[in-house]
Amino acid sequence: MLTPNLTVNASGHLCIGGVDTTMLAKTHGTPLYVLDENMIRENCRGFERVISEEYGGKGLICYASKALSCKELYRVVDSEGLGCDVVSGGELYTALQAGMPAEKIVMHGNSKSNSELQMAVSHDVGRIVCDNLPELKRLDQIAGAAGKTVNVMLRIKPGIDAHTHDFVKTGQIDSKFGFALETGEAMQAVKAASLYPNLRLVGLHCHIGSQILDTEPFAEAARVMLRLMNQVRAELGITLTELNLGGGPGIRYTEHDDPKPFGEIVRAILAALKGICTELDFPEPFVLFEPGRSIVGGAGLTLYTVMAKKVIPNIRTYVLVDGGMCDNPRYALYHSEYEALIANKAGQPRDERVTIGGKCCESGDLIGEDMPLQAAEEDDILAVLATGAYNYSMASNYNRNPRAEIVMVRDGEARTIVKRETYADIIQNDL
Ligand SMILES: *Cc1c(COP(=O)(O)O)cnc(C)c1O
Repeated sequence: MLTPNLTVNASGHLCIGGVDTTMLAKTHGTPLYVLDENMIRENCRGFERVISEEYGGKGLICYASKALSCKELYRVVDSEGLGCDVVSGGELYTALQAGMPAEKIVMHGNSKSNSELQMAVSHDVGRIVCDNLPELKRLDQIAGAAGKTVNVMLRIKPGIDAHTHDFVKTGQIDSKFGFALETGEAMQAVKAASLYPNLRLVGLHCHIGSQILDTEPFAEAARVMLRLMNQVRAELGITLTELNLGGGPGIRYTEHDDPKPFGEIVRAILAALKGICTELDFPEPFVLFEPGRSIVGGAGLTLYTVMAKKVIPNIRTYVLVDGGMCDNPRYALYHSEYEALIANKAGQPRDERVTIGGKCCESGDLIGEDMPLQAAEEDDILAVLATGAYNYSMASNYNRNPRAEIVMVRDGEARTIVKRETYADIIQNDL
């Protein structure tokens, strides 16, 4: 199985966290998102362990909300000592409602509205990561009007593109996020930020990409950022004390993915950081990480009911399910690959190759193509694995499909953490 929390029971049914997925489908209906609480907690602890072992605990792990934002998930990560990052007023609101302490929240966004900035300031969010000069100016005014001094970090484009196989260190000026390093823009932004009376510039931030499978792009980003902090100290006489290295560690979506475990990635980053600090005689900064996918991605799966199988001779076989791009748009968006299996036939070999089609009125509404699967029949339960991140958070009401329910399993028990939307929910704002 893809992850160790997935097992097959004596009836040949797929289990997650010790719970039979076919029973979950029966009692909660489909489509259904399922999250394994213990695995999420273990992932949180894994990050924290490395920070404490390798870096004396001088850091904060901020779970990246955009991977999956709902109240219970904030409660779980908060109880493990994590903070969170948010990228909108909606995520901030949800985190605060769940009781996430504001000082552990990092506010992101390349185009934050004044009301979002006001909300962050009025709740005393721990750090606001500023993306551009107009935002710095607006934030200073908003903080001043509130009589507050706000902790600010600056989002830097470190010039590392980790999305290619052999990552490259140029060509990243063309991004809508942050201040470019190569052009001197980053240095100017530090200078500007340091002059605003209501802003307290605490450090720098970068995020080099997502689903990154190797350690070196991260280690290189740490070195590049520390060199910039050293340059800031030399040229402006300002010693920044915090470095936020964003998220990005990859997970196993299919058996072909072989990501470095995130523990190894964080270890490599911290080793690189300590090395460069020694080399430059720079005080080791407080570090922040913002993992999203690597906390929740592998801990989730989605259950569907097979509605029909459509064999197009010599072309392909469609297995049609009762969900699709409305609950998982990632294949439609970027052809992301997943593993799937028939939950009630999990012990049998996957000896057919199929295209999984959704219920939405789009030919591109697929969960995947050319996927190995057990022989599917009507009413089978299809499980798509590793859907914990960027599925529910990207779900829509396309075709006015209600958003699916989320259940959390733990030690053989399951509980609903987000209710299934009703048709009444869908029209509640219609006049
Ligand atoms: C997307 C994002 C993250 C989380 O990325 P993952 O790949 O899910 O770990 C963290 N920080 C920022 C700024 C992001 O944009």
